[in-house]
Amino acid sequence: MKTDCIFCRIIAGTAPAEIIYKDEQVSAFLNLNPIAPVHVLIVPVKHIESVNTCEVGDEAVIGHLFTVARLLAVRYGIDQSGYRLIVNTGPDAGQSVFHLHLHLIGGRRISFLVE
Ligand code: 5GP
Ligand code: ZN
Repeated sequence: MKTDCIFCRIIAGTAPAEIIYKDEQVSAFLNLNPIAPVHVLIVPVKHIESVNTCEVGDEAVIGHLFTVARLLAVRYGIDQSGYRLIVNTGPDAGQSVFHLHLHLIGGRRISFLVE
């Protein structure tokens, strides 16, 4: 837990968010500024800054992010219509929160680049 990290604080329950999924390894909550009808952030409970700091020991939790994405896609009824999973890394990708997260975006047609 990193006390100055907004996602760590959401996971710890000390910052507000609409949490829609939680297990020992992963938490998921609604994006504060959604760009589509479904826009969920799926995050490891462990504070990992970005893909740049992922380690071999993180592979299980990183894989689990995708399993949770699939479960939530089914829950939100977008598994057949389709969805996009995005991981932004660093300034050129526009990463703004430095706690690894998978964006699950769906419920509308998404152009190739999401601004
Ligand atoms: P990034 O650009 O780093 O990939 O995405 C970070 C995302 O986190 C943004 O889409 C932003 O809307 C979302 N976000 C930032 N702060 C908060 C917050 O306090 N609560 C929630 N629910 N989402 C947040
Ligand atoms: Zn964190």
